[in-house]
Amino acid sequence: MKIHEYQGKELLRKFGVTVPRGIPCFSVDEAVKAAEELGGSVWVVKAQIHAGGRGKGGGVKVAKSLAEVKTYAGQILGMQLKTHQTGPEGQKVNRLLVEEGADIKKEYYVAALTDRASQKVAMMASSEGGMDIEEVAHATPEKIIKIFVEPSAGLTDAQANELANGIGVPAGSLAQAVDALKKLYTCYMETDASLAEINPLILEGNGNIKALDAKFNFDSNALYRHPEIVAYRDLDEEDADEIEASKFDLAYISLDGNIGCLVNGAGLAMATMDTIKLFGAEPANFLDVGGGATTEKVTEAFKIMLKNPKVKGILVNIFGGIMKCDTIANGVVSAARETHLSVPLVVRMKGTNEDLGKKILAESGLPIITADSMAEAATKIVAAVK
Ligand code: GDP
Ligand code: MN
Repeated sequence: MKIHEYQGKELLRKFGVTVPRGIPCFSVDEAVKAAEELGGSVWVVKAQIHAGGRGKGGGVKVAKSLAEVKTYAGQILGMQLKTHQTGPEGQKVNRLLVEEGADIKKEYYVAALTDRASQKVAMMASSEGGMDIEEVAHATPEKIIKIFVEPSAGLTDAQANELANGIGVPAGSLAQAVDALKKLYTCYMETDASLAEINPLILEGNGNIKALDAKFNFDSNALYRHPEIVAYRDLDEEDADEIEASKFDLAYISLDGNIGCLVNGAGLAMATMDTIKLFGAEPANFLDVGGGATTEKVTEAFKIMLKNPKVKGILVNIFGGIMKCDTIANGVVSAARETHLSVPLVVRMKGTNEDLGKKILAESGLPIITADSMAEAATKIVAAVK
């Protein structure tokens, strides 16, 4: 689960990391009031969406007067903000963060994240923080320092020092940077985050260290023990179809291709997507109906897949174990009828009550294409959508 920058900064502040004073706003009037309340003479008006790269997309503006705060808030609120992380259609901006301006002397990058290869938490840091960290990672990876944390020891002073020194924090600010890194690590651990990124962490003209941005990702399997983080959830930022699917306990992820797939089991769903790709097409979604799929669940799954206008065909790939093929066949037939299915449908089923399932499909009178092997199923659906 992702959260907004202002919520991330609230968390960082709770764990003792210095962040600018700021106020989240939902209207232009609120933005101007927020700037008045913050005082000073420079403010930053920031779009709040669950995607990075806002600065380059025109979603972060420095205002030098209340009039400018008003202008920028008006421009940013309601805009379709396009960044390299939003996709070409962009994301509508419904919230702003108005902050006091910062006197930036240097921008660093720091992050804590789960490193699957080492099975540890990795702390990363770079002297080249700011808006081009992807480019740095690509062109000059040696400028990103990475250290791994022993879970029993936590991030040690020596490691935090190595990071802060490694990115060239000046001597006078070193203690503050080390402190910020250790607090970032604690925040990451205690909130069950899978990513906690501060980009930029800045050195101010007066030598202070401050977090100017905050990006978090949380392990959704641990959310049950963090009601305070669940409360940050903003459904406007999430995929409407994925929300709908979660209501029916379906694991659904939208993708960019044109072949919808309905599968039982995450592993088989992954293998099915790979097979579609192998045969030259792209899956429109990941969809695991789980082990206990009912006719109702299968129908909902069809409805969700078909809401996607890109879907030009559907591949159902079921392994009947505990789940019986005839149950799925009944679900598929009733879903096809209820949704007035108008795109080609290929069904492959193997396992318990396979013959009964095939009989139900054959006797339905629907133009269902059946297949025995995964290769055959993929070949048929790819041909049918072309
Ligand atoms: P992102 O582009 O979505 O990562 O948004 P950021 O919050 O990182 O903001 C992008 C850039 O805006 C930062 O790298 C800074 O250079 C700049 N920025 C953000 N806040 C301030 C500020 O208070 N003062 C100034 N001068 N620049 C800022
Ligand atoms: Mn940033």
